[in-house]
Amino acid sequence: MVWEGLNIPRETREEAQGHGAAVVWFTGLSGSGKTTIARALERQLFHDGVRTMLLDGDYVRHGLNGDLGFSPEDRRENVRRVGEVARLFFEAGSVVLCTFVSPYRADRDRVRSLIPEGRFVEVFVDVDLEVARARDPKGLYARSQAGDLEGLTGVDAPYQAPVAPEVTVETRDVTVEESVESLRRALVEAGVVPGGSR
Ligand code: ADP
Repeated sequence: MVWEGLNIPRETREEAQGHGAAVVWFTGLSGSGKTTIARALERQLFHDGVRTMLLDGDYVRHGLNGDLGFSPEDRRENVRRVGEVARLFFEAGSVVLCTFVSPYRADRDRVRSLIPEGRFVEVFVDVDLEVARARDPKGLYARSQAGDLEGLTGVDAPYQAPVAPEVTVETRDVTVEESVESLRRALVEAGVVPGGSR
């Protein structure tokens, strides 16, 4: 098959819209705060006039990845497909926010390799298991404790923390607003979005 390349190059879109594209990949335990922070960041970016797309783990598992479970192979496939979708939105010029536990380093690094250097922002949403367990926004830790759920990341399935994430937010200690601000700053410093619009 002959691949002609994108009809309208990303750079052309970026120039026309006045900001760059990026993939911001949130990884961390269930209840660490990925979705909460990404949703707040997306609202901020929207307010700033930035084109965005939020790909959320729970949402994607209802549709595109509804056929996948939580075995290591299915988790890998989940992240692989999302990475490809993220790349499409990226090439369309969006700042793509992806919120997935994505416990395996190799799977995250594979997504990183799809995106040009400097445009993949890995965000380690870092929290102690005990804090995540106490929050338990989806009741998963309670179900695991009751013997009703097997293979919960951090409990009886592994979580491989990022070695060199672009940003780490320790959500036991910083507020959602502070996390949003540090991510916004990281995007400005990466030259993705213009600074000083607040
Ligand atoms: P995840 O997407 O990582 O599973 P969620 O964002 O769904 O996590 O849930 C995190 C929960 O923790 C939410 O109920 C949120 O309100 C709460 N929370 C408390 N403090 C913070 C914080 N500093 N940052 C992010 N979330 C926090």
